[in-house]
Amino acid sequence: MESDDCSVKVAVHIRPLIGDERLQGCKDCVTVVSGKPQVQIGSHSFTFDHVYGSSGTPSTEMYQECAAPLVDGLFQGYNATVLAYGQTGSGKTYTMGTGCGDTSQTGIVPQVMNALFTKIETLKDQIEFQIHVSFIEIHKEEVQDLLDPSTINKSDTTSNGKVAHVPGKPPIQIRESSNGVITLAGSTEVSVSTLKEMAACLDQGSVSRATGSTNMNNQSSRSHAIFTITVEQMRKINTDSPENGTYNGSLKEEYLCAKLHLVDLAGSERAKRTGSDGMRFKEGVHINKGLLALGNVISALGDEKKRKDGAHVPYRDSKLTRLLQDSLGGNSRTVMIACISPADINAEETLNTLKYANRAR
Ligand code: ADP
Ligand code: MG
Repeated sequence: MESDDCSVKVAVHIRPLIGDERLQGCKDCVTVVSGKPQVQIGSHSFTFDHVYGSSGTPSTEMYQECAAPLVDGLFQGYNATVLAYGQTGSGKTYTMGTGCGDTSQTGIVPQVMNALFTKIETLKDQIEFQIHVSFIEIHKEEVQDLLDPSTINKSDTTSNGKVAHVPGKPPIQIRESSNGVITLAGSTEVSVSTLKEMAACLDQGSVSRATGSTNMNNQSSRSHAIFTITVEQMRKINTDSPENGTYNGSLKEEYLCAKLHLVDLAGSERAKRTGSDGMRFKEGVHINKGLLALGNVISALGDEKKRKDGAHVPYRDSKLTRLLQDSLGGNSRTVMIACISPADINAEETLNTLKYANRAR
């Protein structure tokens, strides 16, 4: 189950029933098979790499099992991606810890940041580090910069108190270099040297994401938010070789660069045609495009036979998969955390989420 040749690991995070669901008298319809990473709903049963939930698993366990190996990999130069998938309200933002004013340290991202700087502290005498972060949102197949200073510092807000988007700014473009490295042209990259500075970027972007959405049309549930940490390392290696008796005192420089994408995906619920609101329907279609492409990419990566045949992995089918291309598959490590509500009223979407996650294994 823990075999390393599978590049994608899948975990399920079951949140408890929340206020609204309790008030409506919802029943818990999801069962975890005791002692196994197995989830049952109705007559369906699924096995994953890990299952967290109901019984109040400490959040450190999820971090240790799902994200800590990816943080370690960053220091060895391996790109990685953590994805939170699920319907709106299933706990994606809670799981990632990217909500506004979320000062708790229980989410994946705050724990990643802590671990990263703790590790850097122990290595900084031998290695020179440069850390960058970016925070973007993909909405209707367009990339928006959540750290854009001109948007953040803008004091003028629209009549409903939301920050207006800056018109006329050139769109951010996803580019691929000749060696396959994906970059975002035109997005803000903030250089950070402390945990506090990085946390400030996370907060800033989370606020920007929340204020960018209106009540009518909740953009944040229809967009993918991607917080990216890039770690550059410069290490000086002594080339003296005592075995051969060579002591020339010269130093070789080794450079490593890797990035970790922490992704709070758009709500996976089916676009519901609400009639009058044609605009909303279009967004639904676009978001399905990203999630659909992601499902296809991850399933292609997980398919051992296809991988051996060098089969086509459809990265180009959406902005989301294009952006994550160099951090999904290959040498990179991917963890998908499928978030679900245990409430019977959500049973249909929960089953859809478990099926999607199951395809990824
Ligand atoms: P999503 O981002 O998928 O739309 P949220 O993360 O905003 O969902 O979660 C919806 C609600 O459920 C929030 O009020 C959140 O605090 C609560 N919630 C989510 N996961 C948990 C959990 N594991 N434990 C307790 N409350 C949770
Ligand atoms: Mg959310």
